[in-house]
Amino acid sequence: MSHNQLHSEPNHDTNSGESVSAELCGFATSLLEQCGGVVDWERPDEAGMAVLPESVARLLGVGEIAPLTTHQEPGAICISLASEFLDLAQVVLESQVARVGAFSIPDHYLKKGDLQEAVDRAFTWHNARVRIRAMGPKEIEYHSWCFFASLKSEDVWESRLNVTINAESLVRVDLPDVLSLPDLKSSSDPAAVNPQRTFEDAVKLLQANVPVAAANFISRMEGRLERDRKRLRDYYGALSREAGSSKRRTATPPNPEEIAARGRAVDLELDRKLFELRDRYQMEASLQPIAFIGLRLNVLAVELIVQRKRAERMIHIYWNPLTKRLEPLRCSHCGQGTYSVAFTDEDVAPLCVNCHHSRGSDNRTVSKAVAVIPGR
Ligand SMILES: [Zn+2]
Repeated sequence: MSHNQLHSEPNHDTNSGESVSAELCGFATSLLEQCGGVVDWERPDEAGMAVLPESVARLLGVGEIAPLTTHQEPGAICISLASEFLDLAQVVLESQVARVGAFSIPDHYLKKGDLQEAVDRAFTWHNARVRIRAMGPKEIEYHSWCFFASLKSEDVWESRLNVTINAESLVRVDLPDVLSLPDLKSSSDPAAVNPQRTFEDAVKLLQANVPVAAANFISRMEGRLERDRKRLRDYYGALSREAGSSKRRTATPPNPEEIAARGRAVDLELDRKLFELRDRYQMEASLQPIAFIGLRLNVLAVELIVQRKRAERMIHIYWNPLTKRLEPLRCSHCGQGTYSVAFTDEDVAPLCVNCHHSRGSDNRTVSKAVAVIPGR
C-alpha cells in the first residue's frame, strides 16, 4: 500500500495537456501495479499494455490483458480526463487498496550502556529532579496516520497530512516513512492493532497542524477579506457623505432628521454587508482519515523517577532505534511532545513550557482560529 504515491497533490500549475497526461499515466501505472497488475507503458502518447488480476479487470470492464490508451477504444482502458477513468480509479482504490496495514520490524540494535548522560542532554527538567531507575527493551506499537485535510472558505485548501504516534506514550514521533523502511514485515497478528487508541490524539495533533500547513492560504483569505471590507467601507462611506451633503439641487433642502435617518440607513446596510462578508469568509475545517499503519518495533524503554517537592512519580521515555534518539515526553495538557519539561505539583504530570506558563487558561484558541476568521 502506498497512498503517498496514489494520492499525489493536484498540480494546479499544470498548464500543458502533455504534463497532465504524463501525470495521469504515472498515476494509472502505479494504481494498476499496486493492485497486482503488470504495466508496460513508457510514453503516454503511445499505447501501453496492462496484465490485470481478474477482479481488477472486472472493475474496469476490460479483459485481463488490456491496452492502455489516451483515447476511447473498445476493450481498452482509456486514461484521460475526458473518460470515466478517474471514477473507475476511485472504485478500484476503494476495493483493492488496503487502508489499514500492520507491520513489524525485527530486532534492531538498541543503545547500550549508561543512558543518564543522553537523558540529561536531551531533556531540560524545569522544576524536578529526574533520574533513571531501570531500562530494557520493550516492543512498542507505532501508529502512522494519513488524513485528508481541507479548509473551505471563499476558496478551498486541500492537503494530505501525516502523523505518527507512539501508541504507548501517545507522543508524536517523527519516524521515516514506514513503508520505505527496510526489514519491514507483515504483522503476524494484524487484528491486534487497535487504531482507536491513537485516533483522537492524531486528530488533535493535526488540528493544531492545519494553521501551519495552510498558513499561506489563510493569510491569502485574510488579505482578500480585508480588501473586500475596505471596498465596502469606501463605497458606503461615499454614500454616507452624499446623504449628509446639503449641496443638492432639490427645491427644499432636507431637514436634519432626514439626513440623520439616511445616514443610519446607510450604516445599517454597511453592517449587513459586512456581516454577509464575514459569513462568506468563515472557514470550515475538516479532517478525514485516509490510511493507517500499525508498526511494532523493539525500542529501549527507560523508566524515570521524578521527584517534585515531596511528590514522586515514575514515567517512561523511549529510545527509538529508527531515529536513534530519545522520544519527547507528551505534555499532559496540550498533547504536544516536548524536551523542555515542567511538572505539576500534585500529580507530577509533565507539561510543556507553554502550558506550564499559561496553566489554567484555555489553550484551544488555535483550533478555534482554524474554524473562523475573526470578525470585523
Ligand atoms: Zn503543552
